[in-house]
Amino acid sequence: MAQLLQIHEPGATPEPGTDEAPLAVGVDLGTTNSVVAIGEDAGVRVLRDENGIGLVPSIVAYAADGSAIVGELARRLMLDRPEAVVGSVKRLMGRGIADVKTLAGTLPYQLVDGDGSMGTGGRMARVVVAGHVFSPVEISAEILRALKERAEMQLGRTVDRAVVTVPAYFDDAARTATRDAARLAGLEVLRLVNEPTAAALAYGLDEGAEGIYAIYDLGGGTFDVSLLNMQKGVFQVLATGGDAALGGDDFDHAVAEHFLAQRRQQRGDEPLAVADVKLALMTGRIAKECLSTQKWGEWTLNIGDVPSLHRFDRPALEGLLDPLIDRTIHICRQVLDDAGVDPADVQGVVLVGGSTRVPLVRQRVGELFGREPLSDIDPDEVVAVGAALQAKALTRGSETLLIDVTPLSLGIETMGGIVEKVIPRNTPIPVARAQEFTTYQDGQQAMAIHVVQGERELVDQCRSLARFELRDIPPMTAGAARIRVTFAVDADGLLTVSALETTTGSEQKVAVKPSYGLTEDEMAQMLYDALQHGAEDMRLRVLSEARVEAKRVLVALAAALAVDGDLLTDEERQALDAQVAAVETAIAGEDRDAINAAVEELETLSRPFAERRMDRGIRAALSGRELKDFEAAGR
Ligand code: ADP
Ligand code: MG
Repeated sequence: MAQLLQIHEPGATPEPGTDEAPLAVGVDLGTTNSVVAIGEDAGVRVLRDENGIGLVPSIVAYAADGSAIVGELARRLMLDRPEAVVGSVKRLMGRGIADVKTLAGTLPYQLVDGDGSMGTGGRMARVVVAGHVFSPVEISAEILRALKERAEMQLGRTVDRAVVTVPAYFDDAARTATRDAARLAGLEVLRLVNEPTAAALAYGLDEGAEGIYAIYDLGGGTFDVSLLNMQKGVFQVLATGGDAALGGDDFDHAVAEHFLAQRRQQRGDEPLAVADVKLALMTGRIAKECLSTQKWGEWTLNIGDVPSLHRFDRPALEGLLDPLIDRTIHICRQVLDDAGVDPADVQGVVLVGGSTRVPLVRQRVGELFGREPLSDIDPDEVVAVGAALQAKALTRGSETLLIDVTPLSLGIETMGGIVEKVIPRNTPIPVARAQEFTTYQDGQQAMAIHVVQGERELVDQCRSLARFELRDIPPMTAGAARIRVTFAVDADGLLTVSALETTTGSEQKVAVKPSYGLTEDEMAQMLYDALQHGAEDMRLRVLSEARVEAKRVLVALAAALAVDGDLLTDEERQALDAQVAAVETAIAGEDRDAINAAVEELETLSRPFAERRMDRGIRAALSGRELKDFEAAGR
């Protein structure tokens, strides 16, 4: 007699047995597709549906009651109920509405301002779908929930921990949003790992030879290339580049345009509904994917109930894709140039993303680097495989724990709007660094701590992450207080800043909840600008420093004049005032040498005044003391 199979109540998942090993899955939360995988003794297993498909389209469809459908089913609804379906939500993670406005043209749904409840720092844009308003975090959580369910079905036990991958360029806000989404879905994130790093890990590059590796990732809507330097098991991001609006979708577009142009030749102009365009795009995608393995094929476009037949082959496809692939190659060259790396110095090239299945892509990448790219692991699963390996290492304990690096420098604003970098970019994490700062004015009792991210020298060209105040500093003369500011970045790249006044022990601490809203374009632009503007930044920095010093001298002099102004004759006072005005004029100008010269002149002019003050001070000190003070001091 056959053994009876046990079935759980709907929604009830089995409790993990106490004797079971701890377990965590690896998740690639992609713009177009997501994948979940598990590391086992025998290797990594991608968790697939009953048809053997590992990819889950990152698409969510909402019913009127707000309940969600995720994946292939949601994708099919896109044609019929576009207003209820949302895709590509990864582009909105950690972004304010102002940041995505530029993207709005390419996102087929309505965006509204957030209400601020998703984070302390700002407002993430929200999506209007099926009459509801959802944050990108909530929508991503639906995708993660579907992946969690798939894993639980396949593994027959509760899954509540994961390693989740993010693009290397994701900033603090986008990383925090990703972590929040996982928490909403009931997944504790053990670690956020950079996608290129995960891909490198999947190929075991951390165990192989030290050297430089290139990760070429062409997905559905984005292109990213990263140069990693692998040394002693640490992956350092040497350089990253990419195009946030270049990917397989553009390939589909090119093919759809081609089919529609053929149709116009056969039938003349005809009106096209939105659904017709979408149908053409879908047909374009199917044809493109098919021609990665087939030499030719025929496809039918059924528009207005009039079918048209389109014969299409690989050379014709390659003609259409060539200029797009060219753009990716050009970006690779730029990134190599930026990092000062010769293509021949690259020890290995890894292909990531479904679009690298296109044979012409492989060929062009191979030609650029002069070597066959690594592609044994499925390019659209490789990131999840690396994440699963990392999850296994974290739960089972392993020698080869991955170490990542900070993508951008973290620093603090000092006087004059200058950035003092506390943790430079590409520092392996986790890391904690402390730096001492001091007060600017006599008796200063509070200090504004402004945390910024970026490569430039001046604050207003970097990104503001957080502001807080250190209070209760005991009144001391300027420069006497010792404020120790500590930056700690955890293994996920999330930052905590604390400030401690060391003489009194007064301490303030903030976990930096960043203001949402930096696009990867801005991120790339910030890195690029830092390279371009190095010299100009330096000039502005020394100018700013001169201004700060000049203002400090003016403040000190004004304070002294207020107390001991009577020590000066009228003529002396007039001469000093005139020179003060000269310094102020110089500060308003752009000439650092003029500022320094004016300050020097002022100091010369005020030297007799300073000497007289000192005399008066000593006399006051001696005559003011009474006998009991000396007695007290002697005890
Ligand atoms: P993302 O990282 O953006 O989530 P993926 O890595 O899953 O995306 O890549 C999705 C893209 O890969 C889509 O544009 C899809 O059409 C394309 N793709 C998938 N399979 C093939 C194939 N066999 N040939 C060409 N393109 C493909
Ligand atoms: Mg991807």
